Amino acid sequence: MSDETRVLALCDELLSKCDPKTATPEEFLGHQYDLGLGWVHFPEGFGGLGLTPKAQTFINSKLSKAGAPSPYGRNPIGYGMCAPTVLTHGSDAIKGEYLRRLFTAEDVWCQMFSEPGAGSDVAGLSTRAVRDGDEWILNGQKVWTTLAHISNFGIVIARTDTEAVKHKGMTMFILDMHAPGVEVKPLVQITGEAEFNEVFMTDVRVHDSHRLGDVGEGWHVSLTTLMNERVSIGGQIAPRGAGMISLALNAFSRADESTRANPVYRDRLSKLWIEAELLRLTNIRASNNRKVGTPGPEGSTGKLVMAELNQRIANFAMNTMGMEATLFGEYTFDRPKYALDMSTPQKAFLRVQANSIEGGTSNVMRNIIGERVLGLPGEPRNDRDVPWSQVPRN
Ligand SMILES: Cc1cc2nc3c(=O)[nH]c(=O)nc-3n(C[C@H](O)[C@H](O)[C@H](O)COP(=O)(O)OP(=O)(O)OC[C@H]3O[C@@H](n4cnc5c(N)ncnc54)[C@H](O)[C@@H]3O)c2cc1C
Repeated sequence: MSDETRVLALCDELLSKCDPKTATPEEFLGHQYDLGLGWVHFPEGFGGLGLTPKAQTFINSKLSKAGAPSPYGRNPIGYGMCAPTVLTHGSDAIKGEYLRRLFTAEDVWCQMFSEPGAGSDVAGLSTRAVRDGDEWILNGQKVWTTLAHISNFGIVIARTDTEAVKHKGMTMFILDMHAPGVEVKPLVQITGEAEFNEVFMTDVRVHDSHRLGDVGEGWHVSLTTLMNERVSIGGQIAPRGAGMISLALNAFSRADESTRANPVYRDRLSKLWIEAELLRLTNIRASNNRKVGTPGPEGSTGKLVMAELNQRIANFAMNTMGMEATLFGEYTFDRPKYALDMSTPQKAFLRVQANSIEGGTSNVMRNIIGERVLGLPGEPRNDRDVPWSQVPRN
């Protein structure tokens, strides 16, 4: 039996057991996880069947047509980034304890890498973790932490050895976001919402059983997160004509007669549609080729193209709207339950500005593609071989 036939039969079983129109999202997603249709490339017992990621595209397409809830939409950072990190570097006990509730979004997760002094250069981070018996004591500050305000757990990377070179002295942990000493404060974005936050840690205790990977190997663990992040952000596959390009199509179809008849607008829309279709087909090909395990650096290509294309699409949509484009529904401060709200062209136009920053900036994507995919010479680095404590920082 082909993988496609097998997973589609399991989807039928899932839909006959649990109707997405009447079940709660948690119930439906729980059944999906138990049948191994959560992350199909994960091992059996942990939400998967050990198949290639390609099989997930058949599952997602079938379930979304049946009106099933999206695990990505409900817990984007948890589903796309934290889960593969926990799977790859956590003990079986940790995987058993956390993955199912993460998938159902009973536990939303966040990712705490960036700091005020360490964004593109994550390995420069200063948050400290000091061992105390079976526990670690964390002190420091993270920033831009998406959905931290509704997260029960997160993965946090901290420096455990200041005398090692910067890529070596870090360790990754699972953090209980409600532990004493964790403080989450909103950061308001250009959209008026606060999707992301600052997270302050003061003498926060984490048990050593909640360490992911070996002590000092946090950089290696973080690469699992970051590579999955790029594929998760840049590799989404919507049906043809759906996704971001539908924003431009809808705005154009609602534009006044002179705009719709204007050959310049028609030409721009055609070009955007072709680019969106090229990205979609490239992502389908990349997902078909993807093997079980951590994605490679080529995932940066989809992320880079997506970020820049989304911004051009949103610009186009706004240009077709005339004065209406300047009307932004409301600017009430809100701490949303979901990230990435693109419900109106105005909101999308503001939100997509972050696409070329979040998950690694477009400049950093170009560096990765140049150095790690095309094999071009690396940029000069003078802080790789000295202890972190001796690297100048502000
Ligand atoms: C909406 C949003 C959500 C986010 N969510 C999270 C999250 O959940 N968790 C988390 O940990 N972080 C998150 N981030 C942070 C994000 O990962 C960082 O903002 C990003 O990595 C850039 O870091 P920085 O902001 O410190 O900018 P900097 O690293 O200071 O970069 C400033 C500028 O310098 C350029 N630059 C830096 N280094 C190089 C280089 N080597 N070569 C060429 N140019 C370079 C950059 O491209 C950029 O233009 C989020 C950011 C946004 C906007």
